[in-house]
This record gives sequence, C-alpha cells and structure tokens, in this order.
Amino acid sequence: MADTDLFPAYRGHMEYFCLGCSARFDISELHYTCPTCSGVFLLRDLDFETLKKTPGQEWRRIFDARAASKNTALRGIFRFYELMAPVMEEEDIVFLGEGNTPEVASSPTLRGLTGLKTVYKNDGQNPSASFKDRGMACAFSYLKALVRKHGWDQVLTVCASTGDTSASAALYASYVGGPVKSVVILPQGKVTPQQLAQPLGSGAVVLEVPGVFDDCMKVVEHLADNYRVALLNSKNAWRILGQESYAFEVAQWHDWDVSGLCLFVPIGNAGNVTAIMAGFLKLYDLGIITALPRLFGVQSHHADPVFRYYSVDDPKERHYEPVAVTPSVAQAAMIGNPVSFPRVRHFAERFEAVGGKGAFQVVQVTEQAIMEGMILANRHGHIACTQGGECLAGALRAKELGLVSAEETIILDATAHQLKFVDFQNMYFTNSFPPEFGVTPRPELANAPELVIDPAEKAALSPEAYTLKAAENVVKRLGLAAKR
Ligand SMILES: *Cc1c(COP(=O)(O)O)cnc(C)c1O
Ligand SMILES: [Zn+2]
Repeated sequence: MADTDLFPAYRGHMEYFCLGCSARFDISELHYTCPTCSGVFLLRDLDFETLKKTPGQEWRRIFDARAASKNTALRGIFRFYELMAPVMEEEDIVFLGEGNTPEVASSPTLRGLTGLKTVYKNDGQNPSASFKDRGMACAFSYLKALVRKHGWDQVLTVCASTGDTSASAALYASYVGGPVKSVVILPQGKVTPQQLAQPLGSGAVVLEVPGVFDDCMKVVEHLADNYRVALLNSKNAWRILGQESYAFEVAQWHDWDVSGLCLFVPIGNAGNVTAIMAGFLKLYDLGIITALPRLFGVQSHHADPVFRYYSVDDPKERHYEPVAVTPSVAQAAMIGNPVSFPRVRHFAERFEAVGGKGAFQVVQVTEQAIMEGMILANRHGHIACTQGGECLAGALRAKELGLVSAEETIILDATAHQLKFVDFQNMYFTNSFPPEFGVTPRPELANAPELVIDPAEKAALSPEAYTLKAAENVVKRLGLAAKR
C-alpha cells in the first residue's frame, strides 16, 4: 500500500463552540443550537495549533499526494482529513462520490459576451446533484461514528429543505441504512418535481407542509428541541464542516494560489458561504495559502436579508432583519431568515481582517437576471442551475458596479445540476411565469421541440413513404443542400 493510501494518524480534539455566548460542548452528543442562548455552533479542533508545526508546503504535498489515493475513505471530501473532522475512524467515513467537482472554463464565446473570465465549479456533479452532499457526507460519517460508539438501534434523521438538502439526506440515509431512517419535511409545491422525486426514490418518509421553507424549519426545530431526532439542517455544524471542502478544492485546483480569484456564491441559509470562508481561513492559518481570494455572496431581490445587512457600509450601523420572501427562480436560496447568518458575520469579519476591506461582499440581482444568467451559461456548454445563473448574474452586477475586472478569474458556483431546475427553464421558454416572479422572457432565447410530421399523416403512409416524408420535412426545416 502506498503511503498516500494510509489513513491519517492525527486525531483532533473537537468541541461545539457557541457563537452567541461562547459556551462549549462535548461532541459525544448531537447538538444543534445552544441550550443556554439558542445560538448556532461552530465545530473547533482544540489541537488545531499543533497542525501549524507542519509547514504549509508539506501540507500541500500531503494533499496533492492524497489526490491519487486509492483509499476510498480519502477519495472524497476527507482528502483534507486533518482540516475537516479529524475525530472519525476510517470505518465511519461514508463516501458516495462527493467532492472533486471540476472547474470548467467558460467558452471564448461566452467570455466574449460577458467580458468576464468566468469558470464554473460544477457542484451539480455531486451524487445527489448538489453541493449539499459535501456536508451530508460529513454529517453521516459523524452519525455512523455515534451509532458505533453508543450502539443506538434507531436514529431518525430529519430535515426541512428547499429541495436539495432532503434529496441529499435521503440518499445518504438510504446508503447507510441499518438503524438510520430518513424523514424530510418540504414546503408543499415549493420544490421542483425532480427534487421531490429524489427523496421518494431513496425511500424516505416525505412530509409536506403548506407554506415556505421558513415554515418547515420551525416545525423541524420544534421536533429537534422536544424529541429524539438527528437534525440535518445547516444548524448541524457537521454539515458546515463538510462544505468547507469546496474551498480546499478550489485552492488545490489553482495549485494553492488563490490571490486574484473572485468567487461568487448564492446565499440562502448562508451555510455554504460560511463554510467557504471558514475553509479558506483554515488554509490561510496553516500557511497552505498565503492570501485569500475575494468572495461575493449573491442574493435575489426577492430574498435578500444578507445583502440588506451588508449594504450598509459602516459596520456599526448595520442591522439584521429577516425579510418576507417572494417567489424566486433561485428557489433553493429563497430564504428570509438565514439560519447561518451569525456564522456569516463571524467569518466575514475575519475574512476582511485578513483580506482587507471588500474581501467579502454581497451583491443583489433581479429574477430576470438570474434566469438569463442560467440560460446564457447553458447555451454555452455549462450545466448551471438557477442558483448557478444567479452567480453569473452576480458577477455581471459586480462588473457593472466596478467591483471586478476583466483580468480576474471569476469562479461561479453551480450549486446544483441544471436538470433539477428545468421547470424554470421551461417557464422561460414558454413564457409562462406567474406574474409574481417578475420575469419577462426574451423571445429570441426561447427554445421548443418541433414536430416533424403529424401522427395522422404518419398513419396514412406506408413505413417507407413515412420515413421519406419525415426526412423531406427535416430537409425543408433545415434548408439542407443535397450532396453532390
Ligand atoms: C442549499 C442551496 C443553496 C443555498 O445554500 P445555503 O448554504 O443555504 O446558503 C443554493 N443553491 C442550491 C442548489 C442549494 O441546494
Ligand atoms: Zn450560547
């Protein structure tokens, strides 16, 4: 066995740390919010300082060597084991192929159209087709470790979701099986048919609540406070931890030089953007990178509490207030009261302290711009969901505001696969958006299937005549010239 395949020997000493009152709790129990102040937790490795004894250059060598590992437990997000959750044993780690998603450079044509050097990181190429798998792989590995230690015979995992969290939770629960059962709570009619099909296909119990995500979240919180369930929403700090892998992968892809990179990330519950900041800061603290990239959060004008907060320049004048959301094509980010907002504030402060003013910013985009971002990207070879479209819209908005230039490499987060959100594409193509979205399709971007021959006409023809007739119609439609 090559040394890259050896499971790391390092074990950290992790604790939950409350961002509200600084209380600390042991990780032998599942905690979501602070019993004292209801604040959200971060997970900290108390021995993190000892990792600093290893020079940054050595860490880079270790992670690069591990990229070739044939040890399944180290092939996904746990390639970065020491920075992730270094309390798990090899047997605990659940790997369904998550992580290692590619960065795909935009075509010269698209770059010409936008005047921006964009790249998409395709997190829709994760197993359940969204980035949520990064966090779920970590959360389920931790659950497996708990089950092993406590010998639990039943663990009911519960989550509220805008669609992708439940798809991911149900997938991982169905794989782990045994005592682990999955229940997902969804806002009725507010997830796409594809996202509904996923937990159903994974065999989860799917419960619907009339309302929006924020309503589901309140139900789930009540359950977590009063009953024995394992909560898998982003209050679960293990998920945030797993999502840090996005930052580690971006740094490694760019050979550990992230200076001059601009990342655009959609903000819903703000778990993703939190994890990305936390991840880069860890790399920076260990000397694995020597500068931070710039990070832009993007929000729709229909769900923009984080944008509103940061739109006030003077930190002392800022004031957080939840907003009532209105329908958004970036449905997975349609959240008025982000659970991880305190985490954003915590890391944004540190991010700016290291990276300087403007290292973290939030831009706001319209629903129209989000849809056109998605359609424009995908007409040029990308596979972006609406939130991925939101990132392109955000980059264009930042360019308009003079915040990014044509020289910088811009990494857009396609947080899910295009196919999960094709219903919005279809509404755009068929001009059938309900008015509350405020999207007016541009006819020149519409696309629709065209029938080549009428079924009644087909029935009246012999098979040979039918083939000929159909082919003739195709020739006419395309204006084909005959071979000579
Ligand atoms: C969950 C999700 C988001 C929002 O991420 P947060 O961590 O909640 O901010 C964006 N896009 C997709 C596709 C998602 O599934
Ligand atoms: Zn607290």
